[in-house]
Amino acid sequence: MTRLQRAREAARERGVDALLVTPGPDLRYLIGAGGESHERLTCLVLPVDRDPVLVVPKLEHAGYGELPVATRTWIDGEDPHALVADLTGNAATVALADAMPAMHVLPLGQRLPAARQVLAAPILRELRMRKDETEIAELASVGAAIDRVHARVPEVLRAGRTEAEVGADIEALIVAEGHESAAFVIVGSGPNGASPHHEVSQRRIEHGDFVVVDIGGPNPAGYNSDSTRTYVVGEPAPERAEIYEVLRRAQQAAVDAVRPGATAESIDAAARSIIAEAGHGERFIHRTGHGIGLDVHEEPYIVEGNGLELAEGMAFSVEPGVYFAGEWGARIEDIVLVTADGVRPLNTQPHELVAV
Ligand code: ZN
Ligand code: ZN
Ligand code: ZN
Repeated sequence: MTRLQRAREAARERGVDALLVTPGPDLRYLIGAGGESHERLTCLVLPVDRDPVLVVPKLEHAGYGELPVATRTWIDGEDPHALVADLTGNAATVALADAMPAMHVLPLGQRLPAARQVLAAPILRELRMRKDETEIAELASVGAAIDRVHARVPEVLRAGRTEAEVGADIEALIVAEGHESAAFVIVGSGPNGASPHHEVSQRRIEHGDFVVVDIGGPNPAGYNSDSTRTYVVGEPAPERAEIYEVLRRAQQAAVDAVRPGATAESIDAAARSIIAEAGHGERFIHRTGHGIGLDVHEEPYIVEGNGLELAEGMAFSVEPGVYFAGEWGARIEDIVLVTADGVRPLNTQPHELVAV
């Protein structure tokens, strides 16, 4: 079954009569092209009982190339919302892509006054969480690409350079190793390593610093990498090396706990309990991981309270960290794939602290 057919079946099961999907990762998942979102409406109309149609501005049509759906173009002066309403028929319930701009949600509501609007997330999330073979191959190859970048980080990371200088070199490596772009480059040195979403700053890296390097981006097919390694400039302070070893064990325990049927929250607990037992529970200030694919952060979230059972084909990060505000931090992050009987890490760079 194609993704479009599976989306249609999932919509039907949930009592939805049509899916309306504007540009973004959901559209890319369904038709292989993500499109662009702006004031001119582009919208995939996927009714459960008719063929799907992509409504697209005529001036953008050629940019899409071959598509698995029919298209209906429109030109400035036409009413594209009325066009979508027409193709939707008299649906009682329409599911809208989560990221549809309000400037399209409200006019569509006016043109379809009898239709109840719901979010498409519950329908598409079920599909997008379970990666198919093509997606797994993309995630594995982009994972290998970011591993090659980490292998080369010691070439550019040294005392005396600023985080921004190191980050610019890493960004170039990310592209050189096969990404379309660098979506994020975190170089958190010394005290900046204690801020999980720090990016880069003008701070000069010093001897003895721990440096958290969390990097990733999309490959040409749109699938993302996301991997963290922690580096130390010179010799680590012994008490920090000890805490890093606790973190390494915690990350490994969480990866080892991954298998079909295990709950998302049990993976979080596997990492958290080891860090807590060592007396640093309050230093681990975020969830253990997030799903990844066409979005860097997507379902499933590896977090306390998520009783979702893992299933073959799910891909997510396992990234515990410890953060000592004003002093230092460390994190280890791999993307892992749930297999039929266990787990396959998609990042395989060693986990030991890397001295540069
Ligand atoms: Zn993050
Ligand atoms: Zn990351
Ligand atoms: Zn991550």
